[in-house]
Amino acid sequence: MTNWVYSFGGGKAEGSARDRDKLGGKGANLAEMARLSLPVPPGFTVATDVCRHFYANAKALPDGLEREVAQALETLERQTGREFGGAGKPLLVSVRSGSRESMPGMLDTVLNLGLNDKSVEALAKASGDATFAYDSYRRFIQMYAGVVLGLDHSVFEDIIDSVKQESGATRDGELTADHWRTVIDGYKAAVIDELDEEFPQDATEQLWGAIRAVLKSWMNPRALTFRALHNIPEGWGTAVTVQSMVFGNRGEGSATGVVFTRDPASGEDCLYGEFLPNAQGEDIVAGLRTPHPLSKAQASSGDAVSMEDAMPVTFQELKDVAKRLENHYREMQDIEFTIEAGKLWLLQTRDGKRSARAAIRIAVSMAEKGLISKTEALRRIDPASLEQLLHPAISPDVERIVIGRGLPASPGAATGEIVFTSEEAVEAHGAGRKTILVRPETSPEDIHGMHASEGILTIHGGTTSHAAVVARGMGKPCISGAGAVRINAEKGTMLAGGRTLHAGEVITIDGTKGEVLLGALPMVQPELSGDFGQLMEWADGIRRMKVRANAETPEDALTAREFGAEGLGLCRTERMFNDDEKLRAVREFILADGGAARDGALADMQAMQEADFLELFEIMRGMPVTIRLFDPPLHEFLPRPGREMEHAAEAMGIDVERIRQRAEDLHEINPMLGNRGVRLAICYPEVIEMQARAIFEAVMKAGEKTGKKVVPEIMVPLVAYERELKFIKDRIDVIAKAVMEKWGTEIQYLVGTMIELPRAAIRADKIAESADFFSFGTNDLTQSTFGISRDDAGLYLNEYLRKGVIDRDPFITIDVEGVGEFVQMAAERGQRTRPDITLGICGEHGGDPASIHFCETVGLHYVSCSPYRVPVARLAAAQATLANGTDERA
Ligand code: PEP
Ligand code: MG
Repeated sequence: MTNWVYSFGGGKAEGSARDRDKLGGKGANLAEMARLSLPVPPGFTVATDVCRHFYANAKALPDGLEREVAQALETLERQTGREFGGAGKPLLVSVRSGSRESMPGMLDTVLNLGLNDKSVEALAKASGDATFAYDSYRRFIQMYAGVVLGLDHSVFEDIIDSVKQESGATRDGELTADHWRTVIDGYKAAVIDELDEEFPQDATEQLWGAIRAVLKSWMNPRALTFRALHNIPEGWGTAVTVQSMVFGNRGEGSATGVVFTRDPASGEDCLYGEFLPNAQGEDIVAGLRTPHPLSKAQASSGDAVSMEDAMPVTFQELKDVAKRLENHYREMQDIEFTIEAGKLWLLQTRDGKRSARAAIRIAVSMAEKGLISKTEALRRIDPASLEQLLHPAISPDVERIVIGRGLPASPGAATGEIVFTSEEAVEAHGAGRKTILVRPETSPEDIHGMHASEGILTIHGGTTSHAAVVARGMGKPCISGAGAVRINAEKGTMLAGGRTLHAGEVITIDGTKGEVLLGALPMVQPELSGDFGQLMEWADGIRRMKVRANAETPEDALTAREFGAEGLGLCRTERMFNDDEKLRAVREFILADGGAARDGALADMQAMQEADFLELFEIMRGMPVTIRLFDPPLHEFLPRPGREMEHAAEAMGIDVERIRQRAEDLHEINPMLGNRGVRLAICYPEVIEMQARAIFEAVMKAGEKTGKKVVPEIMVPLVAYERELKFIKDRIDVIAKAVMEKWGTEIQYLVGTMIELPRAAIRADKIAESADFFSFGTNDLTQSTFGISRDDAGLYLNEYLRKGVIDRDPFITIDVEGVGEFVQMAAERGQRTRPDITLGICGEHGGDPASIHFCETVGLHYVSCSPYRVPVARLAAAQATLANGTDERA
């Protein structure tokens, strides 16, 4: 193996699929395909080390590279029997980028390189097709001038337009070799005009220009944005693959296309893709011509002739190759191919991007067929992507006013205001508005807008166009190629289904069906059975940690159960006082001067809490339910000054001044660090005594109703001193005793605490003396460890992220080195005092896959998260078990 350059072709290759770090995904897979003796046009790959050297050395290329490229070119000439840049049978090459992870459309490419005034004639002679030769030359000049010389393509469009006008042609395809010669002369003159230099005729000079341009494109703004969005390190660099050209635009026996070995939207095991007869690959990728379907099955929905019909023999060959590649990689492949005069060539293969639904279908079916193991199937699914599937689809029984149709490019449904530019999408997103981005087609420049919108609708392009591929990756619904919709960008309107819609009007897109619908439509929960259920079952069989949910309403508890929660890990009782009647009781308690009024208000609150707990216990049917005692500062329950206070005073029949005065008494400069949690309980023990009574009464009643024993877990928030917890636990025990005496039965219950302050973590061994369990409240623990207000952190943490001071928002993914250290310490110290102490987490991190991995390493017994993230947590917990080697079966 040489240092910088790796050749492939003719059944041999230096390097293989294992070398993607060095050769980039494209180069590595081309090498692999060559080794498999698949029909790959020969070529060579300049390794990513060159890119790293380039940026580390003021854009200088390394010594020895020139010699190695020259040698590789000689080999290529020998393999193809062609000559590079000379008058013999010409060798033309493509020069393409290739990063370790695919960055579709972000980096530059040059095709047809090696053409000059001499070789174009040779190409015309060798191919017997002068029109093709001169068309290729003008394409090359156009591309090279744009990518390498930095000229704006509008210069060239004007030239083609004027030749077309003079000749009376309406399409490029009508132009003859002579016309193209005129165009080429115009192009070359334009280059001199703009740059004061000739278009390079020397093929080697062209090649070095293109190699440098591809390397430079690693740092272009869209690549920088893409890498930031996908966490791709700058240091990876891009490889540059130089490959002999094959032509899909050599007339009717030629074509270009993209094939997925499975349907990327549904995951079904069938060839899926598109092709364009008599065209070059860039025509498909750019979405400028709407391609034809690949198979007859796909074609049934439209009238375009499929490849299976038009080229049955080559189609079968493609099908065989696709299966072979999928079996070889044991993964669904996305393959680019070209057919030149009836001969099939493979230009690229990579793991295919797919919707979350398809990812599950594919992983489960491959595992069921024994192609991969069940644990491999579990590893392949990104837990965060499951959330896509849990999101609502359009309710089946509502009336749909279809105003347009296109290709179902990325599944799911979304509603939003129409925007016609990415800038508007970003702006609206910033203002908290939801949008659908409507574009003729998208380009890499639209990444920001696609990110900021709920869904994407394009007029042109197929299911492998930029919009489709990127939207699927982002998990956003997308419809592409909605050809009947017309956009009038100037007026800010679109014409769809005979209606004129303005920017700002609301539409819904159904990316699963490809339908554009008028207005906002009601949505329903998706079906969680089938492959999804199977995957979850495998995950549940592997994971060590339990998964609970944070829920306090019956609806949330029901959703949590449906998604597989094994209990409630956090029921925030203060959130249960959310309707007018309940608020009134709390306010009366706060405003009462004592005595009967206060007792009356407490009795009302107890009745309400008891009913709510009873409902939760019934829904959870004996599963663990952790009820957290009252947490927030009292003044949060008082109405805000002004109209709110006046209304409340009127409703309660008291003087507004009294409310104002009480609010002033309770006012705190910094309520987050104020009288909340256990502190409030120590100041007003009657509140938590009331809650304890409500819990125990509900336990008795639920037991009677369901026949299931309920063991409530009563959780005390914001404890710092061991004596705080002791103080509260003693009171809970007294209440428990009283209720047990009243009912004449034993009640089993646990009392524990949240660990959400550094002092609590440090004193965990002492705190554990009164705690049956610890639940890590990592929202507050992050806040108190950093001294950052969790409510305002976004103001500056985003800036930290942008400037690379931090990689992750610590409120989303746990800060392992700091906050994690406290968690680890508290777990160890708690277990030292009480080896059987139960350990869980109920901060937001409990639903974040990376944080769940951390929880596994600490040995927590469960994670608790919002109901919608329960499946995410089930899978992430299984992956964590596998990664940590804590599963004996793996
Ligand atoms: C926490 O602090 O992590 C927690 C779960 O409690 P809350 O978010 O209610 O403060
Ligand atoms: Mg908290």
